[in-house]
Amino acid sequence: MTDRQALYEGKAKIIYTSSAEDELILHFKDDASAFDGEKVEQLARKGEVNNAFNAFVMEYLQSEGVPTHFIRRLDARESLVRRLDMIPVECVLRNRAAGSLTKRLGIEEGRVLEPPILEFFLKNDALHDPMINTSHIRTFGWASAEEVEAMRRWTVRVNTLLKALFAKADLILVDFKLEFGRYQGELYLGDEFSPDGCRLWDAHSLEKMDKDRFRRNLGGVVEAYLEVAQRLGVPL
Ligand code: 5GP
Repeated sequence: MTDRQALYEGKAKIIYTSSAEDELILHFKDDASAFDGEKVEQLARKGEVNNAFNAFVMEYLQSEGVPTHFIRRLDARESLVRRLDMIPVECVLRNRAAGSLTKRLGIEEGRVLEPPILEFFLKNDALHDPMINTSHIRTFGWASAEEVEAMRRWTVRVNTLLKALFAKADLILVDFKLEFGRYQGELYLGDEFSPDGCRLWDAHSLEKMDKDRFRRNLGGVVEAYLEVAQRLGVPL
């Protein structure tokens, strides 16, 4: 592909234009970052593992009726997706307390959250992705009331599907983040689903198998991602 242009370069991904105007190419990099880019490292093979992992999860969700932007994997590091008009809101679903929730509310890590908690964050690096509510989303026009309701419904549905999928691989889906966008008037799941944007614990040892290994300097980051992929049967 010679005529493609990088539309966006983040820490872990580059988004390129493709030959079709309504499609984009996601390029998964080996870079890992945390704490608003304060900690950045190259982790060999992370890009290809996340590309394969994301393809596996997106295809599974699609097969279960979730509308996603995913079209197909192009090669080891790249996938073709529909070009969405992204909603600047991160939808976080939590089955157990971890991360920012434990700090914000003083809840002990690992506590089962029943019913699960759904939170919204504004996607804004300069403001460090502040937590927002549906009232902010409506008043500032980031999404319509119908879109908020659809994001909520699809996030809960994705949780039901993935919690069961990961449980079969002896993994607890602790929490995850989703992003949505519009395509031809409909809401679609966008971005990526990989261990960079969710928390996964071994069901027996409760060992962390996700990006917290990187955030907390636990080592074996890509090894854990590979183990998760292998347990799920992700072709690598
Ligand atoms: P927390 O709010 O505890 O930091 O994150 C909750 C969940 O959402 C975690 O699984 C975390 O990985 C994911 N998450 C939250 N914000 C981001 C983000 O900006 N990028 C990525 N990749 N994941 C995020």
